[in-house]
Amino acid sequence: MPISHFTLLITSVLLLVSCSEEPTSVSSTLIINAIIFDGTGADGYDGSVRIDGDRIVAVGDIATLNGETIIDATGLALAPGFIDTHSHHDSNMDEYRHMPGVLSQGVTTIVRGADGFSGTDDEFGFIPQSEFNRTFAATPAAVNVASYSPHNSIRYRIMGTDSRREATADEVAAMAALVEADMQDGAVGLATGLEYEPGIFSTTEEIIELAKVAANYGGGYMSHVRDEDDRFMDAVDEVIRIGREAGLPVHISHIKLADRAFWGTTDSVIEVLNNARASGVDITADIYPYQRWASNLAILFPSRNFSDRDVAEFTFAHTANPDDIILSHFAPNPEFDGLSIADVARITERDPATTLMELTQAADDYLRETGRGGASIIAKGMDESDVVALMRWEFTNFCSDGSHGGGHPRGYGAFPRVLGHYVRELKVLSWPEAIHKMTGRSADAMGFRDRGRLKAGNYADLVLFDPDTIIDNATMDNSTALSTGVHSVWVNGVLAFENGAPTKRFSGRVITRSNR
Ligand SMILES: [Zn+2]
Repeated sequence: MPISHFTLLITSVLLLVSCSEEPTSVSSTLIINAIIFDGTGADGYDGSVRIDGDRIVAVGDIATLNGETIIDATGLALAPGFIDTHSHHDSNMDEYRHMPGVLSQGVTTIVRGADGFSGTDDEFGFIPQSEFNRTFAATPAAVNVASYSPHNSIRYRIMGTDSRREATADEVAAMAALVEADMQDGAVGLATGLEYEPGIFSTTEEIIELAKVAANYGGGYMSHVRDEDDRFMDAVDEVIRIGREAGLPVHISHIKLADRAFWGTTDSVIEVLNNARASGVDITADIYPYQRWASNLAILFPSRNFSDRDVAEFTFAHTANPDDIILSHFAPNPEFDGLSIADVARITERDPATTLMELTQAADDYLRETGRGGASIIAKGMDESDVVALMRWEFTNFCSDGSHGGGHPRGYGAFPRVLGHYVRELKVLSWPEAIHKMTGRSADAMGFRDRGRLKAGNYADLVLFDPDTIIDNATMDNSTALSTGVHSVWVNGVLAFENGAPTKRFSGRVITRSNR
């Protein structure tokens, strides 16, 4: 090496060393004395984390720098910000940019496209990724948002109201073009909701064609599967087939056993999933920590024949009792809001099956007239030991499936409920395991590379919480009560939540394939 180059090299090394020891100006924040859970599943340890700009710059045993902001986190746990892989918090984002329910759970990233929908008030509406990017750039939210291209919204866009049938080859090609545009604009994959319209009328081949487009761009596939009741295993087989034939990672949204006849069979479900993985299909799942699910009335009638009494009777025998299906919102007659099917049957002096059929038909008529969802229901349909067994599967991560403004308490409580109830109280998961399933595991399932783990170079999405007190407070009666125990939340290095409230600093970003 010529001497001049050697000198130059030495000089720059010295410069680097002196920069890190004696900075001229300090913009960093050092969080000290925290119990660090790094998101990998490793045990917690006492240490410090330095953030500077939008990044984590150091983790571990770190000396303080003159002039940097110090936060003493004695007694508190510090983890990567939680990632909610199935969220409906992208709807009403203009009203809820500050994300109170999301940040108060310690969540710093939400994933759009849940159930194959764009997240608009108009059930038939489609927001292309390019439009979402523009809107978010103009009015960013307080948390990061990644998007999956939404199959149901795209199918409505192409087929309109004539969507209760198989698509033609031309229509599939037109859908593929919209998926491709979304992928080019940064979507991280394709999402379906095959228990909902119009996806329920699609063939598996249609989905494979569209999933191949996502695969070409390195995206994944996630799905609210075609059936969560008596044909759940067929639906799982369909996801596995899509993963195999389209050649991409596949993710089952909010995995559950919601048919009483299948309660207690999680071992065989997990065996099928593990066999698929062993055969080369990268299949994963997410779950929310409740025995109650929330959806709409129509899904109870897979054929969409709302006058099929056998289906109504099947629902009560297999899915939930008339007392356990609550109308959380019934637009055609708001007086029924909060009542069960059994309550409405008593009031209207009809039997429960007739009541269910009539309410579902009324909700469908309302949807077709207004374009707005007519009936939200919450039903108690899962067995606690199944919920626990599915959340403990190695490749399950947590989600909320929640919304702003109430309904199911999961929108404000899911993540603290896991930590407070399932970890601290029931001890069915360890702290590092549960946190891994909110961070590193979730990032891996979504293909995020620079988030979900506490390490130098990653984005500074962080949650500081009290492991002794963290708990959900949202209930069926008060579904928007904020959780307790989340002390501070940073999103891309910016303090987004402290003293029990959002700071209304909107540092969230669109996570795209190139920056994930
Ligand atoms: Zn869903």
